[in-house]
Formats: sequence, C-alpha cells, structure tokens
Amino acid sequence: MRLITEKGREGRGLSILPPCDVEMVRPEEKDCRKLPLDMPAVSETEISRHYSALARRTHGVNDGFYPLGSCTMKYNPKIDEEAAALPGFAQVHPLQPAETVQGCMEVLYLAEKYLCEITGMSAMTFQPAAGAHGEFTGLLLIKAWHHSRGDEKRTKIIVPDSAHGTNPASAAMAGFTVVNVPSAPDGSVDLDALKAAVGEDTAGLMLTNPNTVGMFDENILEITRIVHETGGLNYYDGANLNAIMGIARPGDMGFDVVHLNLHKTFATPHGGGGPGSGPVGCTEVLAPFLPGARAVQKEDGSYGWTGGEQTIGSVKAFYGNFLVVVKALTYILTLGREGIVEASRNAVLNANYLRVKIKDAYPMAYEGLCMHEFVVSLQQWKDKYGVSALDVAKALLDHGIHPPTMYFPLIVHEALMFEPTETETRETLDEAADVLLDIARLAQTDPGALHACPNTTPIGRPDEVAAARHPVVKG
Ligand SMILES: *Cc1c(COP(=O)(O)O)cnc(C)c1O
Repeated sequence: MRLITEKGREGRGLSILPPCDVEMVRPEEKDCRKLPLDMPAVSETEISRHYSALARRTHGVNDGFYPLGSCTMKYNPKIDEEAAALPGFAQVHPLQPAETVQGCMEVLYLAEKYLCEITGMSAMTFQPAAGAHGEFTGLLLIKAWHHSRGDEKRTKIIVPDSAHGTNPASAAMAGFTVVNVPSAPDGSVDLDALKAAVGEDTAGLMLTNPNTVGMFDENILEITRIVHETGGLNYYDGANLNAIMGIARPGDMGFDVVHLNLHKTFATPHGGGGPGSGPVGCTEVLAPFLPGARAVQKEDGSYGWTGGEQTIGSVKAFYGNFLVVVKALTYILTLGREGIVEASRNAVLNANYLRVKIKDAYPMAYEGLCMHEFVVSLQQWKDKYGVSALDVAKALLDHGIHPPTMYFPLIVHEALMFEPTETETRETLDEAADVLLDIARLAQTDPGALHACPNTTPIGRPDEVAAARHPVVKG
C-alpha cells in the first residue's frame, strides 16, 4: 500500500475552500522552516479511500472479539463520545475565568467525588495522562509525605514479580530502589517474602488486586497491614478496575494511593495512542501534596479551585485530559450505582464463562475462580506438540479474533491472558470458545498448520524485535 504522501498530484485538493483573503504574514527568518513542507495533494475521494483501506487492515473492538487481557479493550458507549464532543466541553480554554467554565468545573468535581467513592479515597487529581504517569505521580505523593515527616531513609518500593512492567519503571523514575518479591505458587503475594522485604527503608508497596494473573489476593488486609506496620504506604494499581468497581474498594483494603486508567475501565477506548487519563486518588493525609488545581464546591453552590500549599507541583498542564474525564463521568452517570456493579459482575462472569468452556483443552496457569481475566500456560503444548502461545495467537487472527495478551505476566511460561470484558454477548463467547477448541485440536493433530498461521492478514509473522527497533511502516 502506498503512503498518503506518495499519492495525488501537485495542485490537487482543497479546491472547495475559497482562497485566503487576508494578508499573508511571513514569520521571522529564524522561525521559518528550512525544508519545503511535503504535504500530500490528494482529492477528497483519494483521502477517504486511503483511510478506509488503512482501517480495513487493522482490528479494533468494532471489528470483532478483542480479549486483550490487562488492557480492557471493551466497546465503550458512543454516548460518552457525544458528551465529550459538546462544544461547551470541547471548546473551552484552560485559562478562562472560573465563572465562565462552571459546568466544566462541576464535571471535575463530580468525577472526583464519584471516583473517590468507587475507590474509597478522599481526593483525586486528574492531571496524569496515563496509568504509568499516575503511578509516577502517586509515588511522588508517597515520597513527599515521608519527607514532610522528616523521614528520608525510606528509599525502597516493594513490587511483586507479577506486577505490570510500568510499576518498577515508575518507582525507578520516582527515584526509588525497587525490591522485587516473588509470588506464591497460587499467584498471590508470598507473605513470608513480603515480611522479609519490609523494613525501615520501605517507602511503600505497589500492588494490583485482582493481580495480573486475574486472581483476587485474599490476604490483602494482611498484606497492607504488614506494610503499614513498618511505616510504609500502600499503592494500588487500579488500571483495570472492572472486576471490583462498585463491589470492593482499594481504600477499604488498606491502600493509601490509587491510580485508575479511565482509558481502560471508564469509557475511553484503550490503544490507538491516546489521549488517556490516569487520575490518582489518595487519603486525606496525602491530599495536600496532590498536583494541580482541583474543583471544589463553594457555599453558594458555585465552583472554585483549590490547590495544596505542599503540592508536589504539576505533572501535566492544567487539569489533564479533561475530555476523557467528561467521558468517564458520562459513563458513571449512565450506569448509575447499580449499573457499575452489574458491569463488574458481568466482567467476572464473562471471564469465568470462557475459562470454564476451554479449561479442559487449555492448561490454566492458576486453578479456581478468576476475576475479570484469566491466564493459560501453554508450556506443556510447546514441549509436547511444538505449539507456542504465539502460534495460538496467530491462528486466532484467521478467525477474526484479536489475540489475547501474550507472554505476560512474566511469571507464567507461554502465557495467554484472556479478558473478554463485560460488554461481550454469550454468543460471541461461545463462538470464541469454539474457535479456541478447534485450535486446541489442531495443536495435537496438525501442529504444522498452526505454524503457518495467519493466512488471511496483510502481515503474517514479522520479526518482532526488528519490527519494534526498525519499524518500516509502509508496506
Ligand atoms: C495498562 C496498565 C498500566 C499502565 O497504564 P498506561 O496507561 O498504559 O500507562 C499499569 N498497570 C496495569 C496493571 C495495567 O494493566
């Protein structure tokens, strides 16, 4: 396929627009570009066909089942997009006087209130633009709190080996030393290992619960107590909240700081490069350190701004990606208190439905009920039939199914992590299970056929390392 810049002819396009009728002003020489601008000159038909063709070559939630675990690729209600596109939200300027943007401030105020209620936190910032950005921000809050008490020796953050890769990366970025603790055989935190790891230098613990293998850690109260007792704080990675929202709250589990991924759980589609939003909630004692201004309701019912004197400083301009917050609030208000709970229940139900349908064919990494996702381990298949997790992922592509997350978490060999999400129908899950069971039969009878997959996609099996290091984006 040719690039858009390789299409068209000079002088084509733009004929609908009238010529510019204001005087052209040339910027100062230092601000002028050195090379001519290589703009495509294409007709409207060419451009619309070009992007339609590109869209056909990719796979999104609008095309088919997309069970990408730990990513919540659910189909998000279109009404949320409509709300975010309203001119009163989309066309405001962050420097407008507060009295002209009261509606936007109400959005920030209500979103903070409801998300705090859902997480069990006291205050929240919407500045962070992504989950990892939220982690970084949350860790700076933890650091600021220790330092404000004159406790500067707490330089270590404990992270279980099942953690999302961003956790240790964020801890390192925030200037901490990462202490890795191994998981117990059932995927939960190894309590003895945790007890051995905590001490006077522990700033905090970062944890995901349900964890990255999709299991709820039943020792959670014990875990957070151990950390608190040594003077550390507990950080909850709430990127994927759709197993527990409305049902269990990180605050009640003993967590002090939480980040959410609005672009996973709260109506902004994940993937595609953003914009995202990783708001950070915290307890009362950490609130003074939050970055940026937060909307507060005044006695007369109008809204104003507040910001802590002890703030860690801004981590992003103004109020973060505001329109993502509009979508999240619309989502919360459309679902309501009961709908939020139902979404969580369906996420867990769908994951368990698919798990049980395929569990006799696919070796589960962990036994028992899962939360919103589950992990299979195909190490046995690899040893016996020479069929890897990658082969299964590639075979799924030929059936119009996006592969599950592969080779994550790192503690599971030949891992495939499925997250159907709450928005899939029983028919879709049944069809996906049938495809998976067919692939399992092929693995035993004709593994060669699986090595040849995919047969229907524009690109088959690129050298993934080379493709990441030296991407050739025209094909
Ligand atoms: C996605 C994810 C993150 C990181 O979120 P980004 O928005 O991609 O930075 C962190 N933790 C978990 C468990 C995740 O699934």
